[in-house]
Amino acid sequence: MASKVLVAVEIAQAVVPVNLNAQPGINPTINIRGQIKDLDSRKDESLPYRHRVFRLSSNIILIIICLILLTACQRDQEQSAELFVFGTIIEIKLWGASPEEAGHAFSELQQMFQGMHRDWHAWEPGRLTNINKAFSEGRSAIADKDIVEMVRRSQQIEVSTGGRFNPAIGALIQLWGFHTSDYPITGPPPLQLRISEILEQKPSSTDIRINGIELSSDNPAVQLDFGGIAKGYAVDLTIARLRDLGIGNAIVNAGGDLRAMGSHGDRPWRVAIRKPGGGNIGSIQVHGDEAIFTSGNYERFRQDQTERYPHILNPNTGWPAKDISSVTVVTDEGLLADAAATALIVAGLEHWSEVAHALDLDQVAVVDESGTVYLTPEMEKRIQFSGDADQVIVEVN
Ligand code: ADP
Ligand code: MG
Repeated sequence: MASKVLVAVEIAQAVVPVNLNAQPGINPTINIRGQIKDLDSRKDESLPYRHRVFRLSSNIILIIICLILLTACQRDQEQSAELFVFGTIIEIKLWGASPEEAGHAFSELQQMFQGMHRDWHAWEPGRLTNINKAFSEGRSAIADKDIVEMVRRSQQIEVSTGGRFNPAIGALIQLWGFHTSDYPITGPPPLQLRISEILEQKPSSTDIRINGIELSSDNPAVQLDFGGIAKGYAVDLTIARLRDLGIGNAIVNAGGDLRAMGSHGDRPWRVAIRKPGGGNIGSIQVHGDEAIFTSGNYERFRQDQTERYPHILNPNTGWPAKDISSVTVVTDEGLLADAAATALIVAGLEHWSEVAHALDLDQVAVVDESGTVYLTPEMEKRIQFSGDADQVIVEVN
Protein backbone atom coordinates (compact mmCIF):
# COMPACT_ATOMS: atom_id res chain seq x y z
CA MET A 1 0.00 0.00 0.00
CA ALA A 2 2.71 2.44 1.00
CA SER A 3 4.87 1.76 -2.02
CA LYS A 4 1.92 2.43 -4.37
CA VAL A 5 1.55 5.90 -2.89
CA LEU A 6 5.27 6.54 -3.36
CA VAL A 7 5.13 5.50 -7.02
CA ALA A 8 2.26 7.88 -7.71
CA VAL A 9 4.13 10.81 -6.17
CA GLU A 10 7.27 10.05 -8.13
CA ILE A 11 5.46 9.97 -11.45
CA ALA A 12 3.51 13.12 -10.73
CA GLN A 13 6.74 14.97 -10.01
CA ALA A 14 8.40 13.72 -13.16
CA VAL A 15 5.92 15.55 -15.41
CA VAL A 16 6.32 19.14 -14.19
CA PRO A 17 6.93 21.41 -17.24
CA VAL A 18 10.57 22.38 -17.79
CA ASN A 19 12.04 25.82 -18.25
CA LEU A 20 15.82 25.67 -18.23
CA ASN A 21 16.72 29.29 -18.61
CA ALA A 22 13.84 30.97 -16.81
CA GLN A 23 13.90 33.67 -14.17
CA PRO A 24 17.44 34.98 -14.13
CA GLY A 25 18.49 36.66 -10.93
CA ILE A 26 16.55 34.38 -8.65
CA ASN A 27 18.95 32.87 -6.17
CA PRO A 28 19.10 29.10 -6.03
CA THR A 29 17.20 27.90 -2.97
CA ILE A 30 17.22 24.64 -1.10
CA ASN A 31 14.23 22.83 0.26
CA ILE A 32 15.06 19.56 1.96
CA ARG A 33 12.41 17.01 2.64
CA GLY A 34 13.01 13.69 4.31
CA GLN A 35 9.51 12.35 3.85
CA ILE A 36 6.73 11.80 1.41
CA LYS A 37 3.14 12.10 2.59
CA ASP A 38 1.41 8.79 3.09
CA LEU A 39 -2.03 9.60 1.73
CA ASP A 40 -3.61 6.41 3.10
CA SER A 41 -2.60 6.97 6.71
CA ARG A 42 -3.91 10.56 6.46
CA LYS A 43 -7.23 9.14 5.35
CA ASP A 44 -7.30 6.85 8.43
CA GLU A 45 -6.68 9.72 10.81
CA SER A 46 -9.70 11.55 9.51
CA LEU A 47 -11.97 8.80 10.96
CA PRO A 48 -13.18 9.32 14.56
CA TYR A 49 -10.93 7.32 16.93
CA ARG A 50 -13.84 5.60 18.70
CA HIS A 51 -15.29 4.53 15.40
CA ARG A 52 -12.03 2.92 14.26
CA VAL A 53 -11.47 0.96 17.47
CA PHE A 54 -15.02 -0.23 17.39
CA ARG A 55 -14.73 -1.54 13.85
CA LEU A 56 -11.38 -3.28 13.90
CA SER A 57 -10.63 -6.61 15.45
CA SER A 58 -7.40 -6.87 17.45
CA ASN A 59 -5.73 -8.91 14.69
CA ILE A 60 -6.37 -6.26 12.12
CA ILE A 61 -5.05 -3.60 14.49
CA LEU A 62 -1.84 -5.60 14.86
CA ILE A 63 -1.43 -5.86 11.09
CA ILE A 64 -2.03 -2.13 10.70
CA ILE A 65 0.57 -1.31 13.37
CA CYS A 66 3.09 -3.48 11.53
CA LEU A 67 2.29 -1.77 8.21
CA ILE A 68 2.63 1.69 9.70
CA LEU A 69 6.02 0.78 11.20
CA LEU A 70 7.17 -0.59 7.85
CA THR A 71 6.00 2.53 6.04
CA ALA A 72 7.72 4.82 8.53
CA CYS A 73 10.91 2.80 8.18
CA GLN A 74 10.72 2.98 4.36
CA ARG A 75 10.04 6.69 4.47
CA ASP A 76 13.05 7.29 6.69
CA GLN A 77 15.20 5.80 3.97
CA GLU A 78 14.19 8.42 1.42
CA GLN A 79 15.72 11.89 1.61
CA SER A 80 14.84 14.55 -0.91
CA ALA A 81 15.68 18.15 -1.72
CA GLU A 82 14.61 20.70 -4.27
CA LEU A 83 17.42 22.92 -5.53
CA PHE A 84 16.63 25.85 -7.80
CA VAL A 85 19.01 26.58 -10.66
CA PHE A 86 18.71 28.07 -14.20
CA GLY A 87 15.06 28.80 -13.27
CA THR A 88 14.45 25.07 -12.98
CA ILE A 89 13.64 23.12 -9.84
CA ILE A 90 15.98 20.16 -9.63
CA GLU A 91 14.54 17.54 -7.35
CA ILE A 92 16.98 15.08 -5.85
CA LYS A 93 15.84 11.95 -4.07
CA LEU A 94 18.22 9.64 -2.29
CA TRP A 95 17.42 6.20 -1.06
CA GLY A 96 19.21 4.63 1.89
CA ALA A 97 21.40 7.61 2.85
CA SER A 98 21.32 8.87 6.43
CA PRO A 99 19.84 12.33 7.05
CA GLU A 100 23.38 13.60 7.81
CA GLU A 101 24.83 12.18 4.57
CA ALA A 102 21.91 13.60 2.62
CA GLY A 103 22.17 17.06 4.21
CA HIS A 104 25.88 17.19 3.40
CA ALA A 105 25.28 16.05 -0.19
CA PHE A 106 22.48 18.57 -0.77
CA SER A 107 24.49 21.53 0.43
CA GLU A 108 27.47 20.46 -1.75
CA LEU A 109 25.16 20.18 -4.74
CA GLN A 110 23.64 23.56 -4.11
CA GLN A 111 27.09 25.13 -4.26
CA MET A 112 27.80 23.25 -7.45
CA PHE A 113 24.56 24.51 -9.05
CA GLN A 114 25.37 28.09 -8.08
CA GLY A 115 28.66 27.75 -9.94
CA MET A 116 26.91 26.35 -13.04
CA HIS A 117 24.38 29.18 -13.01
CA ARG A 118 27.22 31.71 -12.87
CA ASP A 119 29.48 30.05 -15.45
CA TRP A 120 27.13 28.56 -18.05
CA HIS A 121 24.39 31.13 -18.49
CA ALA A 122 23.97 32.22 -22.12
CA TRP A 123 22.99 35.82 -21.46
CA GLU A 124 23.45 36.69 -17.79
CA PRO A 125 26.98 38.19 -17.56
CA GLY A 126 29.43 35.52 -16.41
CA ARG A 127 32.10 33.20 -17.69
CA LEU A 128 30.26 32.10 -20.84
CA THR A 129 29.31 35.63 -21.90
CA ASN A 130 32.97 36.62 -21.43
CA ILE A 131 34.06 33.73 -23.63
CA ASN A 132 31.54 34.75 -26.31
CA LYS A 133 32.76 38.35 -26.19
CA ALA A 134 36.34 37.14 -26.62
CA PHE A 135 35.33 35.02 -29.66
CA SER A 136 33.64 37.99 -31.32
CA GLU A 137 36.76 40.10 -30.79
CA GLY A 138 39.13 37.38 -32.02
CA ARG A 139 40.70 36.87 -28.59
CA SER A 140 41.15 33.68 -26.60
CA ALA A 141 39.49 33.20 -23.22
CA ILE A 142 40.00 31.06 -20.15
CA ALA A 143 37.19 28.55 -19.62
CA ASP A 144 37.11 25.73 -17.07
CA LYS A 145 37.16 21.98 -17.39
CA ASP A 146 33.34 21.65 -17.49
CA ILE A 147 32.90 24.19 -20.28
CA VAL A 148 35.77 22.57 -22.17
CA GLU A 149 34.08 19.19 -21.79
CA MET A 150 30.77 20.58 -23.10
CA VAL A 151 32.57 22.12 -26.09
CA ARG A 152 34.46 18.91 -26.81
CA ARG A 153 31.33 16.74 -26.66
CA SER A 154 29.32 19.31 -28.62
CA GLN A 155 31.87 19.18 -31.42
CA GLN A 156 31.45 15.39 -31.67
CA ILE A 157 27.65 15.56 -31.48
CA GLU A 158 27.47 18.40 -34.01
CA VAL A 159 29.44 16.27 -36.47
CA SER A 160 27.40 13.07 -35.82
CA THR A 161 24.07 14.89 -36.20
CA GLY A 162 25.05 16.59 -39.46
CA GLY A 163 25.03 20.00 -37.74
CA ARG A 164 21.50 19.65 -36.32
CA PHE A 165 22.83 20.07 -32.80
CA ASN A 166 24.98 23.17 -32.83
CA PRO A 167 25.54 25.19 -29.64
CA ALA A 168 27.52 27.85 -31.57
CA ILE A 169 24.31 29.44 -32.91
CA GLY A 170 23.87 31.71 -29.88
CA ALA A 171 23.57 34.79 -32.14
CA LEU A 172 20.66 33.18 -33.97
CA ILE A 173 18.96 32.19 -30.72
CA GLN A 174 19.35 35.74 -29.49
CA LEU A 175 18.03 37.16 -32.78
CA TRP A 176 14.84 35.13 -32.32
CA GLY A 177 14.47 36.62 -28.82
CA PHE A 178 15.00 33.30 -27.03
CA HIS A 179 17.53 34.76 -24.60
CA THR A 180 14.78 35.46 -22.11
CA SER A 181 12.87 33.84 -19.28
CA ASP A 182 9.47 35.22 -20.16
CA TYR A 183 7.56 32.94 -22.47
CA PRO A 184 5.68 33.11 -24.74
CA ILE A 185 7.38 35.92 -26.65
CA THR A 186 5.00 37.83 -28.87
CA GLY A 187 5.72 39.46 -32.21
CA PRO A 188 6.77 38.55 -35.73
CA PRO A 189 9.87 36.49 -36.58
CA PRO A 190 13.16 38.31 -37.32
CA LEU A 191 13.86 39.60 -40.83
CA GLN A 192 15.16 36.92 -43.20
CA LEU A 193 18.02 39.28 -44.06
CA ARG A 194 19.26 39.21 -40.46
CA ILE A 195 18.91 35.42 -40.27
CA SER A 196 20.84 35.02 -43.55
CA GLU A 197 23.63 37.32 -42.34
CA ILE A 198 24.32 34.94 -39.44
CA LEU A 199 23.94 31.77 -41.54
CA GLU A 200 26.44 33.07 -44.09
CA GLN A 201 29.10 33.17 -41.36
CA LYS A 202 28.47 29.46 -40.63
CA PRO A 203 29.07 29.44 -36.85
CA SER A 204 30.04 25.94 -35.71
CA SER A 205 31.37 24.49 -32.48
CA THR A 206 34.09 22.87 -34.60
CA ASP A 207 35.52 26.39 -35.19
CA ILE A 208 36.56 26.40 -31.52
CA ARG A 209 40.13 25.52 -30.65
CA ILE A 210 40.85 24.01 -27.26
CA ASN A 211 44.20 24.50 -25.60
CA GLY A 212 44.01 23.13 -22.05
CA ILE A 213 41.30 25.29 -20.53
CA GLU A 214 41.86 28.10 -23.02
CA LEU A 215 39.37 28.51 -25.87
CA SER A 216 39.60 30.50 -29.07
CA SER A 217 37.55 30.58 -32.24
CA ASP A 218 38.62 30.87 -35.86
CA ASN A 219 35.16 32.29 -36.54
CA PRO A 220 34.01 35.51 -34.80
CA ALA A 221 30.35 34.53 -35.38
CA VAL A 222 30.62 31.63 -32.90
CA GLN A 223 28.50 32.37 -29.81
CA LEU A 224 28.06 29.50 -27.39
CA ASP A 225 24.60 28.74 -26.00
CA PHE A 226 24.43 25.59 -23.89
CA GLY A 227 20.62 25.67 -23.53
CA GLY A 228 20.32 22.32 -25.32
CA ILE A 229 22.96 20.49 -23.30
CA ALA A 230 23.50 22.20 -19.90
CA LYS A 231 20.72 20.45 -18.03
CA GLY A 232 21.98 17.07 -19.20
CA TYR A 233 25.55 17.76 -18.14
CA ALA A 234 24.38 19.24 -14.83
CA VAL A 235 22.51 16.03 -14.09
CA ASP A 236 25.60 13.94 -14.99
CA LEU A 237 27.81 16.00 -12.69
CA THR A 238 25.24 15.66 -9.91
CA ILE A 239 25.17 11.88 -10.18
CA ALA A 240 28.99 11.78 -10.28
CA ARG A 241 29.24 13.93 -7.15
CA LEU A 242 26.70 11.79 -5.30
CA ARG A 243 28.66 8.69 -6.22
CA ASP A 244 31.88 10.29 -4.93
CA LEU A 245 30.05 10.90 -1.67
CA GLY A 246 29.29 7.20 -1.43
CA ILE A 247 25.61 7.45 -2.42
CA GLY A 248 24.47 4.71 -4.79
CA ASN A 249 20.69 5.13 -5.05
CA ALA A 250 19.40 8.46 -6.35
CA ILE A 251 17.19 10.19 -8.87
CA VAL A 252 17.99 13.70 -10.11
CA ASN A 253 14.95 15.19 -11.78
CA ALA A 254 15.02 18.54 -13.58
CA GLY A 255 11.33 18.91 -14.38
CA GLY A 256 10.96 15.52 -16.03
CA ASP A 257 14.48 15.45 -17.52
CA LEU A 258 16.38 13.15 -15.24
CA ARG A 259 19.02 10.61 -14.44
CA ALA A 260 18.73 7.83 -11.90
CA MET A 261 21.07 5.27 -10.40
CA GLY A 262 20.54 2.26 -8.21
CA SER A 263 17.01 1.64 -6.99
CA HIS A 264 14.29 2.85 -4.70
CA GLY A 265 14.73 0.18 -2.05
CA ASP A 266 13.30 -3.09 -3.27
CA ARG A 267 11.87 -1.70 -6.50
CA PRO A 268 13.30 0.23 -9.48
CA TRP A 269 12.77 3.99 -9.93
CA ARG A 270 9.76 4.61 -12.17
CA VAL A 271 9.53 7.55 -14.52
CA ALA A 272 6.75 9.01 -16.68
CA ILE A 273 7.39 9.87 -20.33
CA ARG A 274 5.85 13.28 -20.91
CA LYS A 275 3.47 14.07 -23.71
CA PRO A 276 3.15 17.43 -25.49
CA GLY A 277 0.36 19.52 -24.02
CA GLY A 278 0.28 17.57 -20.73
CA GLY A 279 -0.24 13.96 -19.74
CA ASN A 280 2.05 11.00 -20.31
CA ILE A 281 2.63 8.52 -23.08
CA GLY A 282 3.35 5.99 -20.37
CA SER A 283 6.04 5.15 -17.87
CA ILE A 284 9.26 3.19 -17.77
CA GLN A 285 11.23 1.54 -15.03
CA VAL A 286 14.81 2.71 -14.75
CA HIS A 287 17.39 -0.07 -15.09
CA GLY A 288 20.54 0.75 -13.12
CA ASP A 289 22.09 4.03 -14.23
CA GLU A 290 20.11 5.80 -16.96
CA ALA A 291 19.19 9.25 -18.25
CA ILE A 292 15.77 10.13 -19.70
CA PHE A 293 15.40 13.46 -21.50
CA THR A 294 12.51 15.02 -23.40
CA SER A 295 12.74 18.03 -25.72
CA GLY A 296 9.58 19.67 -26.91
CA ASN A 297 8.47 22.56 -29.07
CA TYR A 298 5.35 23.27 -27.03
CA GLU A 299 6.54 25.12 -23.93
CA ARG A 300 8.89 27.84 -25.10
CA PHE A 301 8.08 29.70 -28.31
CA ARG A 302 7.48 33.04 -30.06
CA GLN A 303 3.96 33.74 -31.21
CA ASP A 304 2.54 36.25 -33.72
CA GLN A 305 -1.05 36.58 -35.02
CA THR A 306 -0.77 33.59 -37.30
CA GLU A 307 1.99 31.29 -36.12
CA ARG A 308 4.01 29.76 -33.33
CA TYR A 309 7.79 29.72 -33.57
CA PRO A 310 9.28 27.19 -31.11
CA HIS A 311 12.67 27.74 -29.47
CA ILE A 312 14.60 24.87 -31.09
CA LEU A 313 16.16 26.20 -34.30
CA ASN A 314 17.32 24.37 -37.37
CA PRO A 315 20.92 25.65 -37.67
CA ASN A 316 20.78 25.07 -41.42
CA THR A 317 17.79 27.29 -42.18
CA GLY A 318 17.85 29.54 -39.10
CA TRP A 319 14.14 28.81 -38.55
CA PRO A 320 12.39 26.82 -35.80
CA ALA A 321 12.05 23.07 -36.24
CA LYS A 322 8.39 22.19 -36.43
CA ASP A 323 7.00 18.81 -37.43
CA ILE A 324 7.96 16.92 -34.23
CA SER A 325 6.28 18.01 -30.99
CA SER A 326 8.45 16.06 -28.59
CA VAL A 327 11.31 13.59 -28.44
CA THR A 328 12.29 11.41 -25.49
CA VAL A 329 15.69 9.75 -25.41
CA VAL A 330 16.85 7.10 -22.93
CA THR A 331 20.57 6.41 -22.66
CA ASP A 332 23.21 6.15 -19.95
CA GLU A 333 24.38 9.76 -20.04
CA GLY A 334 22.43 13.02 -19.48
CA LEU A 335 24.59 15.17 -21.74
CA LEU A 336 24.07 12.89 -24.73
CA ALA A 337 20.34 12.38 -24.01
CA ASP A 338 19.78 16.15 -23.77
CA ALA A 339 21.73 17.09 -26.89
CA ALA A 340 20.23 14.19 -28.83
CA ALA A 341 16.65 15.12 -27.93
CA THR A 342 17.29 18.64 -29.29
CA ALA A 343 18.97 17.28 -32.45
CA LEU A 344 16.15 14.80 -33.15
CA ILE A 345 13.56 17.60 -33.01
CA VAL A 346 15.60 19.37 -35.70
CA ALA A 347 15.94 16.14 -37.72
CA GLY A 348 12.16 16.01 -38.03
CA LEU A 349 9.94 13.07 -38.92
CA GLU A 350 11.94 12.23 -42.02
CA HIS A 351 15.39 11.97 -40.45
CA TRP A 352 15.06 11.34 -36.67
CA SER A 353 15.59 7.62 -36.98
CA GLU A 354 18.76 8.01 -39.06
CA VAL A 355 20.19 10.60 -36.63
CA ALA A 356 19.37 8.37 -33.64
CA HIS A 357 21.29 5.62 -35.40
CA ALA A 358 24.28 7.91 -36.00
CA LEU A 359 24.34 8.71 -32.26
CA ASP A 360 24.08 5.01 -31.38
CA LEU A 361 20.78 5.51 -29.58
CA ASP A 362 18.26 2.70 -29.60
CA GLN A 363 15.65 3.99 -27.13
CA VAL A 364 13.73 6.91 -28.60
CA ALA A 365 10.08 8.03 -28.55
CA VAL A 366 8.86 10.73 -30.94
CA VAL A 367 5.46 12.44 -30.89
CA ASP A 368 4.39 14.34 -34.01
CA GLU A 369 2.08 17.34 -34.21
CA SER A 370 -1.02 15.17 -34.57
CA GLY A 371 -0.20 13.15 -31.43
CA THR A 372 1.06 10.01 -33.18
CA VAL A 373 3.83 8.30 -31.20
CA TYR A 374 6.80 6.70 -33.01
CA LEU A 375 8.99 4.32 -31.05
CA THR A 376 12.18 2.43 -31.67
CA PRO A 377 11.68 -1.30 -30.95
CA GLU A 378 13.89 -1.09 -27.82
CA MET A 379 11.78 1.77 -26.47
CA GLU A 380 8.59 -0.10 -27.22
CA LYS A 381 9.80 -3.01 -25.06
CA ARG A 382 10.17 -0.72 -22.06
CA ILE A 383 7.16 1.58 -22.08
CA GLN A 384 4.09 0.76 -20.07
CA PHE A 385 1.46 2.73 -21.94
CA SER A 386 -0.92 4.90 -19.97
CA GLY A 387 -3.67 5.06 -22.59
CA ASP A 388 -2.94 8.74 -23.28
CA ALA A 389 -1.18 7.96 -26.57
CA ASP A 390 -3.41 8.48 -29.65
CA GLN A 391 -1.68 6.17 -32.10
CA VAL A 392 1.57 4.28 -31.65
CA ILE A 393 3.92 3.32 -34.48
CA VAL A 394 7.04 1.25 -33.87
CA GLU A 395 9.85 2.25 -36.24
CA VAL A 396 12.47 -0.30 -37.14
CA ASN A 397 15.82 1.41 -37.68
P1 ADP B 1 13.77 21.81 -23.75
O1 ADP B 1 14.25 20.80 -22.78
O2 ADP B 1 13.20 23.03 -23.13
O3 ADP B 1 12.91 21.28 -24.84
P2 ADP B 1 16.23 21.65 -25.23
O4 ADP B 1 17.05 20.76 -24.38
O5 ADP B 1 15.75 21.05 -26.49
O6 ADP B 1 15.08 22.37 -24.42
O7 ADP B 1 17.09 22.92 -25.57
C1 ADP B 1 16.57 24.03 -26.24
C2 ADP B 1 17.55 25.18 -26.13
O8 ADP B 1 18.74 24.81 -26.83
C3 ADP B 1 17.11 26.47 -26.77
O9 ADP B 1 16.41 27.29 -25.86
C4 ADP B 1 18.42 27.07 -27.18
O10 ADP B 1 19.04 27.68 -26.08
C5 ADP B 1 19.24 25.88 -27.59
N1 ADP B 1 19.09 25.46 -29.01
C6 ADP B 1 18.08 25.74 -29.88
N2 ADP B 1 18.27 25.13 -31.05
C7 ADP B 1 19.44 24.44 -30.94
C8 ADP B 1 20.19 23.60 -31.83
N3 ADP B 1 19.77 23.32 -33.05
N4 ADP B 1 21.34 23.07 -31.36
C9 ADP B 1 21.79 23.33 -30.10
N5 ADP B 1 21.13 24.09 -29.23
C10 ADP B 1 19.97 24.64 -29.62
MG1 MG C 1 18.25 19.25 -25.12
